[in-house]
Amino acid sequence: METDCLFCKIVAKEIPAEIVHETGRTLAFRDINPQAPTHVLVITKDHHADAGAVADADEGLADEMLKAARAIAREEGVAEAGYRLVFNTGAGAGQTVFHAHLHVLGGRDLRWPPG
Ligand code: C5P
Repeated sequence: METDCLFCKIVAKEIPAEIVHETGRTLAFRDINPQAPTHVLVITKDHHADAGAVADADEGLADEMLKAARAIAREEGVAEAGYRLVFNTGAGAGQTVFHAHLHVLGGRDLRWPPG
């Protein structure tokens, strides 16, 4: 755990979050500032700064995040209509929390490019 990391504190239950899904190495909760009717963040329980660090980390961790996202999309009822998975990676791409998280967005029309 990184002491100054917001999402590590959510994993440690030091900061509340509305948890919707959990696997051995991931936790998912509703985004505090939702950008779509369904907006859930899938995070790693261990601290990894971003998606690249997840790719370099434990075998199968990225896969576990993707499978969690797919399960959430189904549970939220957005899988059939379509949903978007986003890893903002680096400040220039809009990453503001440097603990890897996968956005799961659905429940409305999602335009492309995202801006
Ligand atoms: O990709 P990015 O780093 O910008 O995403 C961080 C996300 O974390 C934001 O969508 C923000 O609303 C969310 N957040 C949250 N709960 C917090 C702090 C941030 O859901 N306590």
